[in-house]
Amino acid sequence: MTSKSSLNADLHCHSVVSDGTLTPEQLAERAYSNGVRLWALTDHDELGGQERARAAASSLGMDYLSGVEISVTWMGQTIHIVGLGIDAAHAGILEGLRRTREGRGNRAQQMAEQLLKAGIPGAYEGALHFAGNHELISRTHFARFLVEQGVCRDTDQVFKNYLVEDKPGYVPHLWATLDDAVAWIKGAGGVAVIAHPGRYKLSAMQMDELYKHFKEIGGMAIEVITGSHSPNQYQTYGKIAQHYGFLASRGSDFHDPEESYIDLGALPHLPDHLTPVWSLFH
Ligand code: AMP
Ligand code: MN
Ligand code: MN
Ligand code: MN
Repeated sequence: MTSKSSLNADLHCHSVVSDGTLTPEQLAERAYSNGVRLWALTDHDELGGQERARAAASSLGMDYLSGVEISVTWMGQTIHIVGLGIDAAHAGILEGLRRTREGRGNRAQQMAEQLLKAGIPGAYEGALHFAGNHELISRTHFARFLVEQGVCRDTDQVFKNYLVEDKPGYVPHLWATLDDAVAWIKGAGGVAVIAHPGRYKLSAMQMDELYKHFKEIGGMAIEVITGSHSPNQYQTYGKIAQHYGFLASRGSDFHDPEESYIDLGALPHLPDHLTPVWSLFH
């Protein structure tokens, strides 16, 4: 594996094991044919797809890092921490993720009750029908149900009018703590990465505190080039990586061929002056 910034690495995407629509094998093939040469599947709060993803990558001759995207509550907001290069059979992270998934069923029932009051019946069963993994029922599955029902044109419209704060179907939820998530990743021998930092509704001061605290507890990297960032944000978070001494990561956050703006492997390369997170793994 090369540690060059120009390596086509895609270290963030989702399969049917969380809220993606392709299997680990389909993702591996799509990634490889799009030119990806280092890949990680990072399902939400779940390692159930790792063996399949690694096997599929290996049969294509594509380097692979085990991955996960952990849901975390930080200062009252949901943030996501990606773990890369973890031992996917490590008991500590498996137990931590199991606990993180636990509240999803109950939350989904409450979301459905709210939607019913808003005149949309059958959302729990409807969302569950889209969930490849019933332990991982997510807002994305509700979004697909609302599109199927003709309530919204596409999932983008859903996340503007439903399932978000102050809109029908939003249920606040307490996820893992930042300290626990980073400890599970490190305990499993992996590297913790702040996912899509440009997406959080945190003030500059809160973000500064997040970076400092994350670094203090052993977090090492942030996503710079991601499907969730605009080209302007590539610059902003490249500078943040340099300023705080973080390694830089790159990942499409691909979920589905129609829903996702950016295909696997189709992002710009990491800028030369940043140190890629994969330099730790060569
Ligand atoms: P959950 O973990 O159940 O809260 O669901 C979070 C998932 O919903 C994310 O991983 C995305 O896949 C999707 N999502 C959240 N916000 C948006 C948005 N604004 N546009 C599209 N998808 C979103
Ligand atoms: Mn998702
Ligand atoms: Mn995310
Ligand atoms: Mn993601």
